[in-house]
Amino acid sequence: MSGRFNRLRVAAVVWLLGMFYLFPWLLWDGRQAWCCSDLPARKFYVFGLVFWPQDFLFMALLLIIAAMALFFFTALAGRLWCGYACPQTVWTEVFLWMERWTEGDRGKRMKLDAGPWTREKVLRKGAKHALWAVFALWTGFTFVGFFTPITDPGLAPGAVHGVAGKRSGCCSTRWPPQGNAGFLREQVCKYMCPYARFQSAMFDRNTLLIAYDPMRGEPRGPRKRGGQAA
Ligand code: SF4
Repeated sequence: MSGRFNRLRVAAVVWLLGMFYLFPWLLWDGRQAWCCSDLPARKFYVFGLVFWPQDFLFMALLLIIAAMALFFFTALAGRLWCGYACPQTVWTEVFLWMERWTEGDRGKRMKLDAGPWTREKVLRKGAKHALWAVFALWTGFTFVGFFTPITDPGLAPGAVHGVAGKRSGCCSTRWPPQGNAGFLREQVCKYMCPYARFQSAMFDRNTLLIAYDPMRGEPRGPRKRGGQAA
């Protein structure tokens, strides 16, 4: 696919994942700008703001506003969230890029899958899974970095010293992106996502949707551009 909307999608992927991977590294007053690194003291930092447990009321309000906004934009423009901002979408896009770099386009991938296990197939599949694993591990490392100091050596993948729980946290949080975005992909939307189950209840006649239009598609058959079916 190419075109304006796909460019917007790529821009959303770069912007959203850029924020995710960059934010834990930002410093503010000598500490992580965005982190709940002080869990024993029950403090959560967002740049210059410090939140305490009793402030989670604001988080509840924020989540209510976010839910209302999601319903509103779904009624207005259909699967806007799914297409551009859902974590499942943005990570799947990156896993697909890696698959395309290593195994080629869809036709080549199908041919490779159907073919025997040659040296080229082993190398291509191995490169894909190695890229996926490194990227997923880095994602887990970043995620854990939102809750513990990211520069702590115990958090570094493969670190010999440090807190084992942090390292195992990185390894275990690697699996959701690799499993969901690498292997399951749209099966997550189809069988697991609750939002997918109820979003059609929010559509009306004026919602922007990509859908089959019987007025243009029926009766089926060959036709000239702009003409009726033969
Ligand atoms: S259906 Fe659910 S998982 Fe799939 S893109 Fe939409 S919100 Fe994300």
